[in-house]
Amino acid sequence: MKLINTKTNQLIFTAETSESLANAIRKYFNQILVLAVDEVEIAKNDSPLYDETIAHRIGLIPLKSKKNITEKTQAELKLKVKQEGIIYAEELKGNIEIVYGKIPLTVLTKDQELELTATAKAGKASQHSKFSPGILIYRNLVDIKVDKNCPKEILEICPKNILKQEKISEEDIIKCDMCELCIEICKKQNKDYVKIIPTNELIITVESFGQFKPEEIFKKSVETLKKDLSEFSKEISKIK
Ligand code: SF4
Repeated sequence: MKLINTKTNQLIFTAETSESLANAIRKYFNQILVLAVDEVEIAKNDSPLYDETIAHRIGLIPLKSKKNITEKTQAELKLKVKQEGIIYAEELKGNIEIVYGKIPLTVLTKDQELELTATAKAGKASQHSKFSPGILIYRNLVDIKVDKNCPKEILEICPKNILKQEKISEEDIIKCDMCELCIEICKKQNKDYVKIIPTNELIITVESFGQFKPEEIFKKSVETLKKDLSEFSKEISKIK
């Protein structure tokens, strides 16, 4: 495993693993418990949006989830505003933090009011996408070989500008998304000036929607997958 890049909501690394395992970990993002607003009681809504639309928008606001949440974890948020202009998610106040305060909810004009109570519950993305913690994508790390007689027009066709006759750096190789533009043009010329060879390593990108850090999502997914596999294995061993 090798770390390539890490940001607040993104983690990119290479790993010598199979696509099947990476895909299983990706799918298990759907089994991680995440907090999201599940019930909204609207006391007053003078805004141009229907109550249902406001409730739906609030449901999709990412909430900072604690590491050790359980199926019983709940949180409450209240919103009470009487002000002209756009009403943002940051107006929701309670015992849980909003990840992106500047998500617009609705708009109010002079003397209009919005008052509501939102209850957040723990859930999984397999139940509703509002509980999704993020995404995982992966692709093969490739090895790129460029013939020393490769014409300039082929070198220049790469949209990532990574094709060179001299040794291509690891940093550049990682940028190749296997678009195959270089291969297509070589085929037209009946020459294999460029060879793109998939390796047995994957480039894995984890992007968080903000409820957890990307590394936490990855670890939680692996732990949940391990737990389920171990239970499955125990059940299988009971079969005679
Ligand atoms: S496959 Fe696409 S991105 Fe990769 S080297 Fe060729 S042209 Fe560039």
